[in-house]
Amino acid sequence: MCYNIVVMKLTDLKYVSEKREKDFNKLNIFSVEDLIRHFPRAYLDLTRTDTIASAYHNDVILTLCEVVNVEFNRYSRRPYVRALCRQGDYLFSAVWFNQPYVAGKLGCGQYLFYGRVQNKLGLGASMVNPTFERADSNLRLKGFVPVYPLAGSLTQGAVRMAVKQALERVSICSAIPYALQKKYALADLKSAYAGVHLPVNADCALASAERIAIEEYFLLISAFKIIKGDSRTARTVFYPVTAAEVKSFCSRFPFELTAGQREAVNDVFSDLRSPTPMNRLIQGDVGSGKTAVALAGIYMAVKSGHQAAMLAPTEVLARQNAAIIQRYFPDYPSAFLSGSTPAAQKRAIKAGLGDGSLRIVCGTHALLQGDVEFADLSFVVCDEQHRFGVGQRAALTGKGGTADTLVMSATPIPRTLTLIFYGDLDVTTIKDKPASRQEISTSIIPERRYGDMLAYISSEVKKGTQAYFVCPKIEGDEEGSVMSVTELYEELSQKMPGVRLGLMHGRLKDKQKDEVMSAFRAGEYDVLVSTTVIEVGVDVPNATIMVICSAERFGLSQLHQLRGRVGRGDKKSYCFLLMGSDSDEARQRLAVLKNNSDGFAIAESDLKLRGGGDFMGTRQSGRSAGDIKNLNFPVSAIFTAKSISDDAFSGGFYTASLREAAMRKYNKLKDVILN
Ligand code: ADP
Ligand code: MG
Repeated sequence: MCYNIVVMKLTDLKYVSEKREKDFNKLNIFSVEDLIRHFPRAYLDLTRTDTIASAYHNDVILTLCEVVNVEFNRYSRRPYVRALCRQGDYLFSAVWFNQPYVAGKLGCGQYLFYGRVQNKLGLGASMVNPTFERADSNLRLKGFVPVYPLAGSLTQGAVRMAVKQALERVSICSAIPYALQKKYALADLKSAYAGVHLPVNADCALASAERIAIEEYFLLISAFKIIKGDSRTARTVFYPVTAAEVKSFCSRFPFELTAGQREAVNDVFSDLRSPTPMNRLIQGDVGSGKTAVALAGIYMAVKSGHQAAMLAPTEVLARQNAAIIQRYFPDYPSAFLSGSTPAAQKRAIKAGLGDGSLRIVCGTHALLQGDVEFADLSFVVCDEQHRFGVGQRAALTGKGGTADTLVMSATPIPRTLTLIFYGDLDVTTIKDKPASRQEISTSIIPERRYGDMLAYISSEVKKGTQAYFVCPKIEGDEEGSVMSVTELYEELSQKMPGVRLGLMHGRLKDKQKDEVMSAFRAGEYDVLVSTTVIEVGVDVPNATIMVICSAERFGLSQLHQLRGRVGRGDKKSYCFLLMGSDSDEARQRLAVLKNNSDGFAIAESDLKLRGGGDFMGTRQSGRSAGDIKNLNFPVSAIFTAKSISDDAFSGGFYTASLREAAMRKYNKLKDVILN
């Protein structure tokens, strides 16, 4: 993409004050160019109205009704406004909690309401916190409307207005060679941006998102091609270790390697004999036994007389690795080095690595960015768990030069996406798991069984087990369609008397998070009510129940990771999926999870069902791959981008400017991941 020469500041736009600019900054939007890449996370179809009578519980609808009475009330000190409404012969109420000003804005007459319908047996229907406007004004509640991620005091209206202006001011053109744009019948890129932000209907939004995704993937795939081409230097490090020696090392494990592990060890062994340095990804679900493969690789290095390093994304995991290394390599001096290592010890370790007396080092990725020098570092294992690590790998290349690199990922990425995220690597996938794993029983809980489920969980936790309740948001969203973690916490306090509840979310300070987590681990809470911050790395074996609220909001792979928080001890574990809004599509998706315990199969289905952008918007790390996190596009966009990139390279379109655009994209992505 190319822009006006001057990067426009957000405050150059009308109605964007410095305060509003700060809110945009919170969303990583710093320029007008960033703004047009702030894609809607959903669209509201306000092109048609529904009737309350035909709506199901939890449906979010637009409806036209007559307000006949408005009253202001308090319920246990909570102020609320209730409007009695009529639609034909049908009477219902609309309720606004904690928004007393609504009483002043709402009068009798015809209104458009947009919001969630609650259909309580015996109580009839009501709408909760609906957005409203007078039917004769019909200003906002119409058309096909984008819904943006928000921060601070930003409103949808403010974002829409800013984006609209930005689209008018920024010039956008494609980096795809014109001949190839024609060959693939690609739409104009600028129109595609307009089509995503201001679509006339769903088809337009989808086609536009696909066009943008093709552009993004084209650049990314091209960048990987460039990097891969550039980094194919000749091997300078050799490994005299024999296959028999490796085999004998592997016999030290207290288990037989699975077929997948054996294949991975073989791949590493032959990579170390190939003419160029190894750059391999071992992809395997959590628990597939990647550590054993890494150990075998490290053995090949140290037995051949070289040094090896093993990196982990967190200090806890790095320490865990260091202990394993000591156990399997008692004859080779090894060390653990991290930011928290005392200075004197750090100096000694650095000296040992520099003169080669230390043979193996474990640490976090920071190890490679510091001033640590090695006598003969030949083999680097990078255990990135839930991270993409593109950026970390770039740092690695800078350091090790020609070191052989083994990246291990627990993120089950479908083959299609491997191409994107690991385009610079060769890939081995471990598909099988050690035979001893316990299945977690997964069920989809319909609304009417919610009470029963709470009663069951109350009685189970009183017997000593623990449970997680996870919901997608810290705060409710504008449509009021998702319960926030604090609302859930309050609801559970009332509905589960005598159960000790902990509350956890990303807004807590690190220290508070630690305290809540330690208290839960120590059994001081029975139930932890949390956002997805618990997703990565939490290990409380006594927790056997995982409840996921508004489960349809999550990517399947993310649900799979969340579910993986239970089933860690020897007790039978359960995962309950609650649906915030009921649709066939949501049921179909959740059924995939219910019927599957294999992360790869789940990831493939997820990709097919939800399209690529969404998959990436819900990455395990909570980070997204670059900017296209909110775009929902068909996966075919990735394949198209790959074909175009192949054509560009074979057709000699690979110009300096294309190369530059691709590397700029790559570097931007790298920053997103590193910071
Ligand atoms: P991950 O792939 O998630 O890193 P680990 O390497 O930590 O998995 O292995 C998870 C557990 O499974 C460890 O306790 C490990 O000892 C065990 N394990 C690994 N391979 C096998 C195997 N082939 N048979 C039985 N247990 C195994
Ligand atoms: Mg691991």
